[in-house]
Amino acid sequence: MIVSVSHTSWQSTFDGLRDLHGVPAAQANAITLTQVRGRWQEVLVAQLSEYDLLFTLPGSDAPFASSVRVRAAHGRHTLLRYHLGLLVEEESAGNDDIDRTLDAFLSRLISPALVCRRCGRLVTVRSDQFEVFEGMHYSCFHYAFEHDPFDIDEECTAGGCPSAGIEPGQHREEPRDSLVEELIDDLMGSELSTRSTQVRIQRRGPGMVAASFDEHNYLLTVRTEPRQR
Ligand SMILES: [Zn+2]
Ligand SMILES: [Zn+2]
Repeated sequence: MIVSVSHTSWQSTFDGLRDLHGVPAAQANAITLTQVRGRWQEVLVAQLSEYDLLFTLPGSDAPFASSVRVRAAHGRHTLLRYHLGLLVEEESAGNDDIDRTLDAFLSRLISPALVCRRCGRLVTVRSDQFEVFEGMHYSCFHYAFEHDPFDIDEECTAGGCPSAGIEPGQHREEPRDSLVEELIDDLMGSELSTRSTQVRIQRRGPGMVAASFDEHNYLLTVRTEPRQR
């Protein structure tokens, strides 16, 4: 931890704010800075971003992927926390609770809890894929971008729909699926299969099988067509 650097940053940030005499936002932030200084000046870097306070992790450079920004206006404080470049938390505080609110934000800056952008709750499962799902739960991402126009309780056609357990969709693929199963069994037991050293047979979605026998690759599709009268 770069203690001396942090110390310097807090003092010069405070001085910078104090020098902005005619700017109420800067004066409000100077007070805020004083309130949390005792606990945080040896842990985090505090700097100025125009009239805003910007708290960052020691040793990180601009553009900061993780930061807490405090903006003061008209007697209120807006706190914004960024994690991995995404806005993950936003809260408004008054003069009486800014210190407590900021304290909580700074705690989460140093040990980030992943907060879903859609529902505002913590992401604890699959958190390694937080960025992939644009800062959301997988379920929240799914309902935000993948599920329409299906009813929220009805399984949609995208794979891995969380509503599958409530109201399974119409599996129009079922006859094809059983054909595909048969096809895979047949291919496994085929002469071609026994003659080859490298065999790979995989189901590739509804009615589709990918098979490779040594250097030969095959893609088989099963289509359902209306019965001829
Ligand atoms: Zn969520
Ligand atoms: Zn769905």
